[in-house]
Amino acid sequence: VAKESSSDSFHFFSAGMYERFEYQVVIEEGLKQALSNKEFEVYYQPRLRLPDQKLVAVEALVRWNHPALGQVNPEDFVPVAEANGSIVRIGRWVLEEACRRAVDWQRDGLPDLRVSVNLSAVQFHQSDIIADVTRALEKSGLPADRLELELTETAVMADIDQSAEILLKLRELGVMLSIDDFGTGYSSLSYLQRFPVQQLKLDKSFVHGLPQDADAVAIARTIINLSQGLNREVVAEGVENAEQAQFLSEAGCKEGQGYYFSKPLTARELSAFASEKSNLPAESGSGY
Ligand code: C2E
Ligand code: MG
Ligand code: MG
Ligand code: MG
Repeated sequence: VAKESSSDSFHFFSAGMYERFEYQVVIEEGLKQALSNKEFEVYYQPRLRLPDQKLVAVEALVRWNHPALGQVNPEDFVPVAEANGSIVRIGRWVLEEACRRAVDWQRDGLPDLRVSVNLSAVQFHQSDIIADVTRALEKSGLPADRLELELTETAVMADIDQSAEILLKLRELGVMLSIDDFGTGYSSLSYLQRFPVQQLKLDKSFVHGLPQDADAVAIARTIINLSQGLNREVVAEGVENAEQAQFLSEAGCKEGQGYYFSKPLTARELSAFASEKSNLPAESGSGY
């Protein structure tokens, strides 16, 4: 009987759980050398103005080219990097890399693009983010108003007083601030008044059901109207088809990004995408 129960308890870890645990260990171990081995790469997803589809900005999205696992997406390693603190150094590298690229593109004659960088809550609250942003701007020579920083609601709501203070200092540097995945976090709307944030990114989960799903329509319209009322810009994430782009544009959303326009691109691909876009003859109609 004792034998049976001990073999039962052995099954406490299913094969799937063990694999997941092992995967976490591989990630955790690999993170130690990833920066010095230059395994990270920043991709850039175009963000277009609605409705004329002019390229106005890019979002920097980190990728990890792992020697054994291949390309690892941020969702699979950022939580681990946050837990062991390595996100601070990784995030600093992404910030400097993205600023440097934006200046390169400008030097190559591409139209002026803003570059948007995601900040982890850990970077925001537990490192000197003001110093890191200042240094990235100085090292690259990027004008502050060409840099945007994206923070999730969860990150800014974690410590509201500290957040308000840091956001104000970042704002004083001249960078633009966005709330990412808007509507999926705490959504304590009253706090929006306290934060010097210029932009809300409508989460892709609300864009997905547009324009058929009545609930998605109501939520998207409400967030767009709210932003207009508060004098904030709205960027729609996860725009996957023309119907969604058209709906958003007509509802008053000024900018969008998503697979319909382009997936995230390597720096080289972005450069080609941008010069192609700027060589296009001016569009005759709005397209919608
Ligand atoms: P996010 O900032 O909300 O970025 C948008 C995510 O949606 C990206 O996933 C992007 O590839 C994906 N996406 C873009 N267009 C579409 C679309 O049309 N449909 C759908 N279904 N998805 C689309 P990605 O690159 O895997 O990044 C996931 C998340 O990881 C990001 O979400 C962001 O929160 C985080 N992240 C990315 N780069 C960094 C970074 O450098 N630092 C930190 N702290 N977090 C990062
Ligand atoms: Mg983002
Ligand atoms: Mg988002
Ligand atoms: Mg997201």
